[in-house]
Amino acid sequence: MREPDEHRLFRRTVAEFVANEITPHVAEWDEAEEFPRDLYRKAGELGLFGIGFAEEHGGLGTHDALLLAIVAEELAQCGAGGIPASLFSNYIGAPPIQAAGTPETQAEILPRMLSGDAVCALAITEPGGGSDVANLSTTAVADGDVYIVNGQKTFITSGMRADYVTTAVRTGDDGAAGLSLLVVPTDLPGFSTTPLQKMGWWASDTATLYFDDVAVPKRYLLGEEGQGFGLIMLNFNHERLFMIAGMVGGSRLLFDEALDWARERETFGRPLATRQVVRHKLVEMDRRINATRAWMAELIDRVDAGEAPVAQLAECKVQASRTLEFCAREASQILGGASYLRGNPVERLYREVRVNAIGGGSEEIMIDLAARQLGI
Ligand SMILES: Cc1cc2nc3c(=O)[nH]c(=O)nc-3n(C[C@H](O)[C@H](O)[C@H](O)COP(=O)(O)OP(=O)(O)OC[C@H]3O[C@@H](n4cnc5c(N)ncnc54)[C@H](O)[C@@H]3O)c2cc1C
Repeated sequence: MREPDEHRLFRRTVAEFVANEITPHVAEWDEAEEFPRDLYRKAGELGLFGIGFAEEHGGLGTHDALLLAIVAEELAQCGAGGIPASLFSNYIGAPPIQAAGTPETQAEILPRMLSGDAVCALAITEPGGGSDVANLSTTAVADGDVYIVNGQKTFITSGMRADYVTTAVRTGDDGAAGLSLLVVPTDLPGFSTTPLQKMGWWASDTATLYFDDVAVPKRYLLGEEGQGFGLIMLNFNHERLFMIAGMVGGSRLLFDEALDWARERETFGRPLATRQVVRHKLVEMDRRINATRAWMAELIDRVDAGEAPVAQLAECKVQASRTLEFCAREASQILGGASYLRGNPVERLYREVRVNAIGGGSEEIMIDLAARQLGI
C-alpha cells in the first residue's frame, strides 16, 4: 500500500502517540479494567477524532478511509484491542450525528467529541439479540416535545462513560421501517448503566444500559422517523473497515512477537527460528496477513472513491478475524508457556480474538449479508 506523504506523516504521529501514551500502560490499564479519561483529550488534541467530520466543528472536512485505517492499524500496536475500541467508540457513535443530526445537535455534540471532552457510544444490541437489527424492541414514543424511551441495550462499548448514546429505537411498526436513531444524553433522568466483565478487551468499558421513561427532546432524533435502519447500515461499513484495519494491525503484532521469540529462544541447542516447522508457521502467518492487508487496501481505495462495497467489506471482515485467530494460535504455540502468562501481548490478543468474530456483525451474519449482496 503506497501512502501519500501526508498519510505517512499522520501514521508516524499516531505511532508515536501509541508508543508514548498507551503501550507503556497497557498491562496496568487492562488489569484495572479501564484507562484514564484524559486519553480522549490527548487523542483529541492530535486530531485523531476528526476524520469524516466537518471543519466547522473542528474535523478534517472529508472522509478519508485510509486515515481511519491508519489510526486503527497503529492503535493495534499497543497490544490491547479494548483500548482502541473504547477510545474510538466516537467513530461508531458520532458519524450518524454528522450524517443526519440537526445543526443544533451537531453544534452541541461534535466539537466536544472532537476535542475529546465528550464521549459518544452506539447502542444497537439488546439483551434479546444483536444480529437481527430490524427486530429491536426498545421504544421511543412521541409525547409533545419529547420521546419517552423504554428498554435495554447491552454490550455497549463506552457504555459507562459515554456522554451521548446514539440509540436504535422503535418509533413505528415492527420491522426495519419502524426503526429510528435517537441521541440520548446520558445525564437525563431514567437512564442508568451497569458494567460488564468480559473474556477480553478488559480495559474497554462495556455496559448494559437501561432506559426507564427517559424523556429525550425531539431535536435529538437523527434524520426522520423510520430512517434508523438505513443510517445503521451506512455506519456499519466504516465500523467494519476500522475493525479490519485493527485486526490486520493485531495480526502483524502477533507475527512480530512470534518472530522475535523464535529468533531468541533456543531449544535443543538452536534457535526455534532455525526449525523448518517454526519457519513455516511464521511464513503462513505472514502470507495470510499480506493477503488480508492487500484486500483491505483495495477496499480503502474503493471507499475513498465513493463506493460502498458492502459484500466485500463483510467478506474481508471475516477474512481478517480468521487471520487474527490463526495468528493468535500460531504465536501462542511458538511462544509456548510464556504466551499463557497474563500481561503478555500474545495472551491478551488470544483472549480478544473472539470479539472480532462476533461484534460489528458476526461471521455468520457477514457471510449471509455477502451472499444476499452477491445475489446467491
Ligand atoms: C466486547 C463487545 C463490545 C460490543 N460493543 C457493542 C456496541 O458498542 N454497540 C452495540 O450495539 N453492540 C455491541 N456489541 C454487540 C455485538 O454487536 C453483538 O454481540 C453481535 O451483533 C451479535 O449479537 P448477539 O450477541 O446478540 O448474538 P445473536 O444475534 O444472538 O447471535 C448468536 C450467534 O448466532 C449466530 N446467528 C444469528 N442469526 C443467525 C442466522 N440467521 N443464521 C446463522 N447464524 C446466526 C450469530 O452469528 C452468533 O454467532 C458488542 C459485543 C461485544 C462482545
